[in-house]
Amino acid sequence: MPRNSTRVVRVGTVVFGGGHPIVVQSMCATKTQDVAATAAQAEQLRQAGAGIVRIAVDSHKDADALREIRERTEANLSVDLQENYRLVTEVAPFVNKVRYNPGHLYHHQPQVPWQDKVRFIAEVAARYECALRVGVNCGSVDPAKRDKFPPEDKISPMLESAFEHCELLDRLGFTQYCVSLKDSDPRLVVELNRRFAAVRPDVPLHLGVTEAGMPPEGILKTRAALVPLLASGIGDTIRVSLTLPNERKHEEVLAGRQIVEDVLAGRVTVEPWIPGRLNIVSCPSCSRVENAAFVELAEKVRELTAYAADYPITIAVMGCRVNGPGETDDADLGLWCGPRYVNLKRGPISLGSFTYDEILPRLKQELDSLIAERGGA
Ligand code: SF4
Repeated sequence: MPRNSTRVVRVGTVVFGGGHPIVVQSMCATKTQDVAATAAQAEQLRQAGAGIVRIAVDSHKDADALREIRERTEANLSVDLQENYRLVTEVAPFVNKVRYNPGHLYHHQPQVPWQDKVRFIAEVAARYECALRVGVNCGSVDPAKRDKFPPEDKISPMLESAFEHCELLDRLGFTQYCVSLKDSDPRLVVELNRRFAAVRPDVPLHLGVTEAGMPPEGILKTRAALVPLLASGIGDTIRVSLTLPNERKHEEVLAGRQIVEDVLAGRVTVEPWIPGRLNIVSCPSCSRVENAAFVELAEKVRELTAYAADYPITIAVMGCRVNGPGETDDADLGLWCGPRYVNLKRGPISLGSFTYDEILPRLKQELDSLIAERGGA
């Protein structure tokens, strides 16, 4: 299989890039402060074949928990930093990789230029021999980049943001980084990564379709993007992000391993992902999920809306307020979960919040009215 000659990045006991085997990653969906559950899930994922396991850390208490989790698992750990970039000092001693999102560097301490924040993160990462991932995500693009391009151009802001961060890390002399460019539309994932690799073939890429949803559709969507990319030599690590209950989380890893195995064996024909049909986008859940009923809710949304299978409607179901509000904007109907209420949106417009008992009939009402408006009922 031809592979792009990216630079080599070490993450604990694994290396990727430079023709090394493709590393399959996954992420814990347990509460980070539940040390026993998170360490057990990290182990479950490692034993299923995850070379790197990511954990969300949003607070000092999460960072404290990480210290104990580190002692209880042999997994190579990565941490997802969200808005508080300074938490990197508390997490870096216990992990092998840190992921930051350029689109989230604007919220915390907005008076500090993003370049200074990246310099801070890179210095701490270098001190503890942690790799970095610049994780660019469709739902949280750097607002300065988003405003520079017409709204229908989703690709340019994401690419420009990634290039800009690579240039800065290069100038800082920090080479142990990779980039990811994720969208929930597999066609955009292919386009984004092809275009990035054409300009920066030296930078390792972590591939994934964000909020791919529940299996089997989530696996089909992910395969539609990852198989052609890997078959053309693009991609050094992968994740299949699936909405699954905690006890089945390792299925993400098995699906990722199957993709790598198929590509290595030359089985590179994929079922095309067909837009123009009902598309349920749902997040894989993580420590930030605000109500344990989220996965069940996503499954019920799929069951409830099955009657609309042939309509070109996208419904997004997201587990929390961190990414929920932004990542439901592009959907026709969006739900994002709070602890007691589910927020319902039609495109970017909020329709209010509803209890977990009220939300499904309200969603059906909205879906029926959308179908009627579009001449379907
Ligand atoms: Fe985690 Fe929230 Fe993203 Fe879902 S939407 S994966 S709960 S951060």
